Amino acid sequence: MPTPTELAQALTRLKNNDRVTLIRISVPAEACPVCRSLQGAYPKDSVPALPPEGCSCPFGRTSASYDPVLAEIYP
Ligand SMILES: [Zn+2]
Repeated sequence: MPTPTELAQALTRLKNNDRVTLIRISVPAEACPVCRSLQGAYPKDSVPALPPEGCSCPFGRTSASYDPVLAEIYP
């Protein structure tokens, strides 16, 4: 599971990558309801922060993560 620092770094990296058109939040089935509600793809300027407020995932760490949506695949 990523730490909040790793999540923030990953988000910055994706935002700075011009080939990334959208940023997807991937959420495994075992994540808490707050995290699961965030599943989806977002424009770079409106990506929710991870971990979200009210996250109750096991071990105090969100299991959600950021994934790039690349221009070639999803223009
Ligand atoms: Zn959570």
